[in-house]
Amino acid sequence: MQPDSILSPKLLSDYCATAILAVDPADGRIVAANPACETLLGYPVSALLTMQISDIEVGLQDVFFWEDVRQSGAQEISRVEGEYQHCSGHFLQVRKTIRLVQEAGRTLCIISAHDISASKRLEEESERTSSLLATTLESTIDGILVTDLNGKVLNFNHKLSEICACPAIENNDFHDLMNSFKSRLLEKERFERWIARLFHDPYLNELQTFNLDDGRAYEIGSAPQQYRDGPIGRLFCLHDISALKASEAELRIARDQAQQASKAKSDFLAHMSHELRTPLNAILGFAQIIETDENPEQQQLGTYIYRAGKHLLDLINEVLDLASIEAGKLALRMEPVALKTCIADCLEMTQLLARDKGVHLQAQLLADDVFVLADVRRLKQMLLNLVSNAIKYNRPNGEVMISVERSPGNNWRISISDTGIGISEQDQAQLFTAFNRVGNTQTSIEGTGIGLAFTQKLAWLMQGNIGVKSQPDVGSCFWIDLPASCAPQAGPTLPPFVIDQSSRSILYIEDDLLSQKLMQNILAKQRPQYQLFIAGSAEEGIALAQQFEPDLILLDQNLPDGTGAMVFEQLQQNERLYHTPCIALSGNTLPEQINDALRQGFCAYLGKPIQISSTLLTIDRWVSQKRERQVSSSSQ
Ligand code: ADP
Repeated sequence: MQPDSILSPKLLSDYCATAILAVDPADGRIVAANPACETLLGYPVSALLTMQISDIEVGLQDVFFWEDVRQSGAQEISRVEGEYQHCSGHFLQVRKTIRLVQEAGRTLCIISAHDISASKRLEEESERTSSLLATTLESTIDGILVTDLNGKVLNFNHKLSEICACPAIENNDFHDLMNSFKSRLLEKERFERWIARLFHDPYLNELQTFNLDDGRAYEIGSAPQQYRDGPIGRLFCLHDISALKASEAELRIARDQAQQASKAKSDFLAHMSHELRTPLNAILGFAQIIETDENPEQQQLGTYIYRAGKHLLDLINEVLDLASIEAGKLALRMEPVALKTCIADCLEMTQLLARDKGVHLQAQLLADDVFVLADVRRLKQMLLNLVSNAIKYNRPNGEVMISVERSPGNNWRISISDTGIGISEQDQAQLFTAFNRVGNTQTSIEGTGIGLAFTQKLAWLMQGNIGVKSQPDVGSCFWIDLPASCAPQAGPTLPPFVIDQSSRSILYIEDDLLSQKLMQNILAKQRPQYQLFIAGSAEEGIALAQQFEPDLILLDQNLPDGTGAMVFEQLQQNERLYHTPCIALSGNTLPEQINDALRQGFCAYLGKPIQISSTLLTIDRWVSQKRERQVSSSSQ
């Protein structure tokens, strides 16, 4: 016996959320509709009962369906999709089922319809996203592969099939696929161990480089794919770095060749210096003996030989100095130099020449606390060049004045002005070219034409500059600008640092393209002897540091894949990089930040925007420290 139903079928259809319509298949008239139809279509039930099914079913397939019904009779269908038009005009996607019932001797079509517009929209959206993802994957030059945690291939691009030489990847298990790639690798075992490690630890994120037997090289990155905090698979990215490797190899060859050429130059300089000075030693020595001869005529001859020999020695010294600075072999010992003492020494050394020429030589009174950062021996050489020129190219009873004043860019300017013959504007343009004696080729004034060229190069090497103002027949004023310095500290101080011109390599780890370009520009123009490598991320930086073992590392503190502190710590773990000085670069110049970096072991901290002169001084100070530190640690 059937249990009594609590609700009548009519009530059931009234409460049902599915829209139910009854249609007469003979003429397509709607003969019944439940209240859910009102919600779905916006028409009141009473209105629906005056309408044809074709008034609301507007999809092409719906039109064909009712046409079919009219011609061949009603039929049942399940879960087909169609399109309805709402009373406000918009269209709805529906899924409907049609059943046939017999009612009062006639057949009726009972249509139950669900609104699936929202899920259709989602479906379209997801299709769009998938297609975008697929085009993105295909547009990259890298091979991309996505697997689940067990190595089942989930997604890939065509570049990957090209790289792996495996056309039907979707049928492949990851391991089969990798076997095909592995068969062409030089280090198969390392690759196998790495893959095993990756699938053992689903959180591992690593980048490794592998060489193929045909000479190509790939950088393969593997990162976990996470969903809601948990790993669900792995992403592999295979990047062809063959061209990069080739240019690195070329760079290495060029560096080795440059180093060899530079060594050949310094060997030649050392050899020439020895070969020229040894015979001169004998000439000057014997000339001095002859000068003490009892015979006054012999004495005179001895003096001539001595003077000529001395002139030759000066010339040799100047030529060798110029050659060594041009070969990048001149090392400077930079330290705070008191200008007062330095100028007093120069005055003393040139006093005799001034007296012989009848020139009055004087210097402005100077305070004790005026210091520049310079190599004291070379600074004296520069001043002697300028002061002796001011005396040599002066007139009888002329004057030479040395004065000092502040100049822009935190410099001190030393000016040497004379009341001499002056230099025409045309000649001033060639003054600093070696061996160019401008207007004096015909005069009897002794000289080589090297002094000013050498002085200019020294000034530049010390981060300074040199210039001249002159008027023919009135006089000239030569000036040298050098960076101001504090007085040397009492007690233990930093040792003087050496500006070593020999070739050094610097690694700059920086993600900002403009900062990279700026550093490239500064070093190319002002320190061509430094070879600069650039890494755009922490990972690349560490890899390049391990590969090239640079003499100095400039490390930006905010890299996309790690902090400067983190990179520094990793570099420190490599014993071959432990002694490499690291300079921190950052826009954050808070004292705590700077102190933290210095405490961690960075040798210096440069705030952005960088000041070119102090940046170069810092680089010069530290670029040659590695070797010294290594020597001191290995000698312990
Ligand atoms: P040198 O004095 O040995 O010739 P320098 O390089 O010192 O070589 O100078 C190059 C030239 O510049 C000199 O030959 C001279 O013509 C000119 N010169 C340098 N200093 C002065 C000066 N103070 N007054 C006039 N001419 C000068």
